[in-house]
Amino acid sequence: MRVIRLSVSCLTAAICATSAQAQRRPPLAAAKLDGFKREAIADVDSRAKFTQQMVDQIFSFGELGFQEVETSKFLVKILRDNGFSVEEGVAGVPTAWVATWGSGKPVIAIGSDIDGIPQASQKPAVACHAPLVPGAPGHGEGHNTGQPVNITAILAVKKIMEREKLPGTIKVWPGVAEEQLGTKAYLVRAGVFKDVDVALFSHVSANLSVSWGPGNGSGLVSVLYSFEGQAAHAAGAPWRGRSALDAVELMDVGWNYRREHLRLQQRSHYVIPDGGDQPNVVPTTASVWYYFRELTYPQIKAMWAIGDSVAQGAALMTGTKLVQERVLGSAWPQHFNRPIAEAMFANIKRVGLPTWTDADQTLAKAVQKEMGSKEEGMPSKLDSTIAPDPEDRNMGGGSDDIGDVSWNVPTVTLRYPSNIPGLPGHHWSSAIASATPIAHKGATAGAKVMATTILDILTKPPLVDSAWAYFRNVQTKDTKYEPLMRPNEKPATFLNTDILERYRPQMRRFYYDPTKYGTYLEQLGIQYPTLRKSKEKCEDTPTVP
Ligand SMILES: [Zn+2]
Repeated sequence: MRVIRLSVSCLTAAICATSAQAQRRPPLAAAKLDGFKREAIADVDSRAKFTQQMVDQIFSFGELGFQEVETSKFLVKILRDNGFSVEEGVAGVPTAWVATWGSGKPVIAIGSDIDGIPQASQKPAVACHAPLVPGAPGHGEGHNTGQPVNITAILAVKKIMEREKLPGTIKVWPGVAEEQLGTKAYLVRAGVFKDVDVALFSHVSANLSVSWGPGNGSGLVSVLYSFEGQAAHAAGAPWRGRSALDAVELMDVGWNYRREHLRLQQRSHYVIPDGGDQPNVVPTTASVWYYFRELTYPQIKAMWAIGDSVAQGAALMTGTKLVQERVLGSAWPQHFNRPIAEAMFANIKRVGLPTWTDADQTLAKAVQKEMGSKEEGMPSKLDSTIAPDPEDRNMGGGSDDIGDVSWNVPTVTLRYPSNIPGLPGHHWSSAIASATPIAHKGATAGAKVMATTILDILTKPPLVDSAWAYFRNVQTKDTKYEPLMRPNEKPATFLNTDILERYRPQMRRFYYDPTKYGTYLEQLGIQYPTLRKSKEKCEDTPTVP
């Protein structure tokens, strides 16, 4: 009877499921939950070595988006060894996977990005530009630290779940090619989040924080425009040629004029992946790759349409053809769940910031000085901003395709302090701290918050109910999710293949070997911290293992 009454009063299957669960399983007594949290925090501390090894290992792989082959192999093995069943090659992305453990509700999806930044190769702990492999990619954002946060947390919680027989399913997944905004919308399309109750994401930062509502950032669509012209001898018969490169150049000029008359919140940028072969051959092919960023789905679509018209105009002017307009990535603007963010924030206050040593502060200040930033060192106070700024204050900024997940299931992003504040980002300087005690301690602090928040979600069914109430009645009341990529579009898995083919053999020599060395710094023979040698010289001799 009770079940029947419930199913009548429930509007959707998901609400029914969580309400039914609330009926079956009362929230755990506060004191008991508190004990579990204390235990999980101690457990995460006891795994600090394991966390450090994961952080260092992924740092040493330094792989770019869609090419996270070693990283994924490494993470999948850890998860399989710990009893997770892993599906690989998810959503047509070779380096994407979903690892699942446990059974029943709630289903919690826990993710973090794993890709690096081009030309960001850098020796950790050296406070000036010192690439391990010149020109190679590296972790110039710190994405090497997120999965270690998650996995450490999950293993601590799993131990409690097994002993206490707590129902619940944990799904771990990687943000593949986040820098290309390349896969999360495809994971959504493949149904990875369809039975998920709450999604928890972690992202590197310089503080320990969480927020709800729309963040100060943009959504975007990433589009490749390819033109086709006609080859000719550029000096002998230029009148017979039609230059695809001319079309690219005129598209860029046209766009740069047009964007003066766009909303101030827009951000757009481009690179030219194909600009022809050599000057004496009129380029038959050329392409230009744009990111169009705006604050809402309709605004992104409108901007994209303007981009298309500028591309068509450029083709018309040059007598070339616009042969392809392909989406390489997309990201909805982010919106985070209020009840889950508030629960996480309580755990942040409980955990607090790591204790920074003099060595940590010396490194942080030296890097800030090197980059012309304020020499503030590492933060000593928690960032207490959890509520969103008024919407009219959002002038746009970066994007993360976690936005797509956030419009499909209640989601929050935990920011943990594994990097130095005040750096330009997407730059070798952001790799300096990423395999040092700053990154290691930041990841451990993040894992404590992640673990305690997972425990809240597992043991408090009303929290899940209120998360869905916010999601349905506030967040998605007037805004419904529609993917930015078109139904026929596929993940751009070819991206970065050439860069990794070129650099991987040299990068391989620097992979971390935890069976021989306690830390990556030890393997590289780098002193912590290493400061600039002189005004002219960063360091003495390059380190070769
Ligand atoms: Zn990122």
